[in-house]
Amino acid sequence: MTELAIADRTLPAGDRITDDELRTRCARPAFGRVLTEHMVSLRWTVDRGWHDAEVVPYGPLSVDPAMVGLHYGQVVFEGMKAFRHADGHAVLFRPHDHGARFADSARRLAMPELPVDTFVAAARALVRADERWVPFEPARSLYLRPIMFATDPVLALAPGREYRFLLLAMVTENFFGADSPPVSVWASTRYSRAAPGGTGGAKCAGNYAPAFLAQQEAAEHGCQQVVWLDAAEHRWVEEMGGMNIFWVHVQGEETTLVTPPLTGTLLPGVTRRSLLTLARDEGFRVEERPVALDDWQRLTETGAFAEAFACGTAAAVTPIGRVVAEGREWTVGDGTAGPVSARMRTALTDVQRGLVPDRHGWLVNAAPDESKGGFLTFG
Ligand SMILES: *Cc1c(COP(=O)(O)O)cnc(C)c1O
Repeated sequence: MTELAIADRTLPAGDRITDDELRTRCARPAFGRVLTEHMVSLRWTVDRGWHDAEVVPYGPLSVDPAMVGLHYGQVVFEGMKAFRHADGHAVLFRPHDHGARFADSARRLAMPELPVDTFVAAARALVRADERWVPFEPARSLYLRPIMFATDPVLALAPGREYRFLLLAMVTENFFGADSPPVSVWASTRYSRAAPGGTGGAKCAGNYAPAFLAQQEAAEHGCQQVVWLDAAEHRWVEEMGGMNIFWVHVQGEETTLVTPPLTGTLLPGVTRRSLLTLARDEGFRVEERPVALDDWQRLTETGAFAEAFACGTAAAVTPIGRVVAEGREWTVGDGTAGPVSARMRTALTDVQRGLVPDRHGWLVNAAPDESKGGFLTFG
């Protein structure tokens, strides 16, 4: 049971958008564009710790132009999803794992950690407030975006002493389209995402804008995504822009799912971890080992690396059809979605949608346990 009560300052029923307006806004939910009507807000100060937890109408903030988060990038975020089950319930997928990673990211940026229970309570409170925004369509879900930033107006180069946590939600369709056709990827040797000792393992805002230029470079080479190589040698494949990567290694009767080890320069994805578990359930071997870009090409050409796919909360499992690098390119398999990628995608989304038993305890019901007066206390 969390001690922190979340005050209910949701819009009165009469001030919420109509069902018709809701349908119109959700007609084409391009990623990141259809935000819901509420958000959760918490504050942290040195003296009081976390306080002022509330669910409030979504809207602009008033912040100090000199705030630390804006100037020095003390900003961390998360991304997780809520799904509608056939029985009408909304569930969160592994919110405690996202909460734990949010705390890890905060620690890396010298920020206060939000207790995981409070993180999960905030997520449940928002899903309850915006319950009717949780889509019924199987290809859709509610994407939750927790974010924390330093708010105190002190331009001295030091960690903030005041923070704000916000939790937003948006309606989303699968990131690369409903049935996720294979993507093409550009292996950048010009830019790096993360160096040893840096922040590649944290979900901090500063990791993402530097990737935009590489993303433009990928587009110039006809690719949809960047695949990042290690910063020191530009040789080892690490991950994608916002997704981890897997290869399907076939040796005779045996199939192994291979993914790079968590060296600190790539993001420890909750989807990555889930797929490692589900792959074992499916009877595959799994291996966390470094894969060089050269090996990816060579093993694809011998047929050993039969498939490759990217994975993350937004995109679930997305097959990779083509790889382009400076002076070379190759097609993965026959360039279409392979059977193992499809099987892993189904294994994951079936758990998320409640179509198979939740054997690993990954789903958390978003409905509240109880409500007390004007306050909602979630356990
Ligand atoms: C969020 C993210 C991932 C995927 O993590 P999930 O927990 O599976 O959503 C992978 N790589 C990067 C760089 C990310 O930001």
